[in-house]
Amino acid sequence: MKIQFCGAARTVTGSCYFLDTGKYKLLVDCGAFQGPYEVEKLNREKFPFDPAEIDYVFLTHSHFDHCGRLPVLIKQGFKGKIIATQPTRDIAQVILLDSARIQEEDYRRYKERAAKRDSGDDDYFVPKPMYHKDDVNRTMEFFKVYAYGESLELGDGLEFRMRDAGHILGSASFELWVKNAEGRARKFLFSGDLGQPGQRIIRDPDMVREADYVVVESTYGNRLHKSKDDTVLELLTILQGAAKSKSKVIIPTFAVERAQEILYELNLFYEKGLLDKNPVFLDSPMAIEATKIFRQYPTFYDEDAKRLIEKGDDPFGFPELQFTPTVDDSKRIVDAPAAIIMAGSGMCTGGRVLHHLKNNIEDSNNHVVFVGYQVKGTLGRRLVDREKTIRIHRKNLTVRAQVHTLGGFSAHADERDLRYWLRGLGHSPRTIFVTHGEEQTALGFAANIREELRVDTYVPNLGEVVEL
Ligand SMILES: [Zn+2]
Repeated sequence: MKIQFCGAARTVTGSCYFLDTGKYKLLVDCGAFQGPYEVEKLNREKFPFDPAEIDYVFLTHSHFDHCGRLPVLIKQGFKGKIIATQPTRDIAQVILLDSARIQEEDYRRYKERAAKRDSGDDDYFVPKPMYHKDDVNRTMEFFKVYAYGESLELGDGLEFRMRDAGHILGSASFELWVKNAEGRARKFLFSGDLGQPGQRIIRDPDMVREADYVVVESTYGNRLHKSKDDTVLELLTILQGAAKSKSKVIIPTFAVERAQEILYELNLFYEKGLLDKNPVFLDSPMAIEATKIFRQYPTFYDEDAKRLIEKGDDPFGFPELQFTPTVDDSKRIVDAPAAIIMAGSGMCTGGRVLHHLKNNIEDSNNHVVFVGYQVKGTLGRRLVDREKTIRIHRKNLTVRAQVHTLGGFSAHADERDLRYWLRGLGHSPRTIFVTHGEEQTALGFAANIREELRVDTYVPNLGEVVEL
């Protein structure tokens, strides 16, 4: 029996683990690498296994770095089943379709530019799309959805169970029971991305009691999040100040989970009469789609969100809120004197938020509020780092608006949460593989866990095969 770490090894993106039991060939996640060109280039490399031989893909959740290469797998001959929860399937469809559209548009623009200039003297290069809309639609036919908590046998010597990972709607940790060549059962536990306990809307991560081999994420394995309550209060204070001075507040928003979480907080603010009745715009077609999916699955909510529904309240809706799916709807926002505008992308790397920033950032009366992590090199990061001049759509702009960074919203467990979750396993693991973190973070976290739990830990390299 062997496991190969085909992604998210000493790095955060590209989650993909290949487990060969001798009898079955299994994948956990088939995500895309994201980041600078040298990293994204890895998406074009051949899989280190034959996709046609894979029996099952266990998909932990619908983030692009976990599902982004599924259509490639299918194009290359995969004939098995993709196992996930229903919300994971539905949100993955939205995310993959959006990716196909962006890949096609980027490539079309690149070809147009290339046709206009002489060849060879430009570094600007966009590869052909990895897949198209039709490939995504075909991918959806391979899904088979299950509920949390049901233990199911897929074949002789192969059993699985999904547990709530508390990260985004529908996210799961996978327990897998497999038999090795000698017929002995071994239990694997793949954490997927683990959520922060106390997160809005979704439930806290389920604790798992034992496992022989564990693959655990370590995104925030070296830090502690700011308190959530302080963060929500900070948001309220900014919004109240902005309403008083009749200014615009732009919130660059990630379409899945964060957008719904902010709507949830705004709904409570308005309901309690804490904010003036200025309009709120959700100006992101993808976030609007994701919100519709969230509304479909109240059985996946935590107790607080369920209680709101029982009272007849829509956690993602209030009279001030307007969805603006079309470009014409979006253009009308310009006329609103005071408003809260939630628009993508979350790191300001593209999308409608750029138009809103262009129109509003030079006015010192306005506010930009960041509610998610900003990767180095993005426009969002430059704003968070207080750069005074930025460039949008070939125009230089002076940043006069007030920029705020709220650190407490996170869909990821921090170091304390990860330790707590692993402690639930006691001394049962033979090895804990630490993945899905930057190299130094993963190494540090692995060392801490080894010391605390007195179990073997290991940080695999990208592509490394470990015999079990
Ligand atoms: Zn994730």
